[in-house]
Amino acid sequence: MEYKEVVLYTLKKPRKKVSRGKLRTLSKLKKDLDTVFSLYIRAKFQKKCYTCPYIGQLQNGHFVPRQYLATRWEEDNCRPQCRNCNVFRHGYILEFEERLSNELGAKRVQELKDARNQVLRLNRAFYETEIARYTQLLNGLLDKEP
Ligand SMILES: [Zn+2]
Repeated sequence: MEYKEVVLYTLKKPRKKVSRGKLRTLSKLKKDLDTVFSLYIRAKFQKKCYTCPYIGQLQNGHFVPRQYLATRWEEDNCRPQCRNCNVFRHGYILEFEERLSNELGAKRVQELKDARNQVLRLNRAFYETEIARYTQLLNGLLDKEP
């Protein structure tokens, strides 16, 4: 019996790597907007928790919860909060609402609540515009800091 040498591999064209260049995915854009927006809120408002006397490390607290995207990046809906109020007290919403009402008026607070189910076009253009806007606003605030 004759043995033939068998070529055990097949030649494949090497796969071309698809380069995404610098294009960020939508979920990355959303994350980036969260980050710059949170930095902006914490730079803009008092360096204390909005709903308790705590002064120290703060987070970006939402009155209408952040899962409602229509108000997630709305300045009036956000204030700095400590981790205790934001996470463990789930935003301390009753206290948050009372203070926001005193600050902005009950009408505006109602508008925020009503706006929560609006549908935004969360496309690349939206994220890129908002990221640019809040980056600029943040830089403006940081330039003013002593
Ligand atoms: Zn607090």
